[in-house]
Formats: sequence, C-alpha cells, structure tokens
Amino acid sequence: MQTVAMDLLPLPPADGLTAEQRRGAACVWDGRHSALTATTAIDLGEHPAGDGTTLFLRACKSCTQRRAMDALQHHSATCEPCLIDHTQCQAGLELVRLVRDTRR
Ligand SMILES: [Zn+2]
Ligand SMILES: [Zn+2]
Repeated sequence: MQTVAMDLLPLPPADGLTAEQRRGAACVWDGRHSALTATTAIDLGEHPAGDGTTLFLRACKSCTQRRAMDALQHHSATCEPCLIDHTQCQAGLELVRLVRDTRR
C-alpha cells in the first residue's frame, strides 16, 4: 500500500538497482534477500522507472527503520504542522508508525 511516508524515504536511483531489487526480491537499500520474507519485508510499493517499466520495491526492516528515522527527523524539523501538533500531520504520523513498526 502506498502511503505518504513512503514518498519521504530516500530511494536509491533506479539505474543502480539489480534485477532482484527491481522486482522486490532483494532489499532496495542493501541488496540482501536473506532478510526479506513475507512477514518481515516492508512493501515500498510500485514505482515507475525512467525506462517505462514498473519497479516493485521492498526493503528489510533495519534499512527501512534507519531511513524512516532520518526522514522523520528531517520532516519534523521542517514541517510546520508537525511543529504545532504532529498528530495533525499525515506524513508525520505515518513516519512515526513506520519507525515503530520496524523496531525489532
Ligand atoms: Zn536492507
Ligand atoms: Zn508534518
């Protein structure tokens, strides 16, 4: 499922991805597949690539959490609604949830 928070995570450029990463068989950030199972993989959704194909990206929990924490820090420092009340910001809420869900 595509969420606002997923759009805030810094994805690597599509050119640099392996075939396995492009179809979600390996983590989009570290390229490992051992950590990706149906229950632990984080679904990052479909992304159109520059060459007209569609990428199905997935990532392992530890990579996702690192990116989500970075994105949350950056977001909450620059998002005015979050500074006032973070429960009123969809992106802020989703990032908080993502960090919590990826905690081991
Ligand atoms: Zn990973
Ligand atoms: Zn916000």
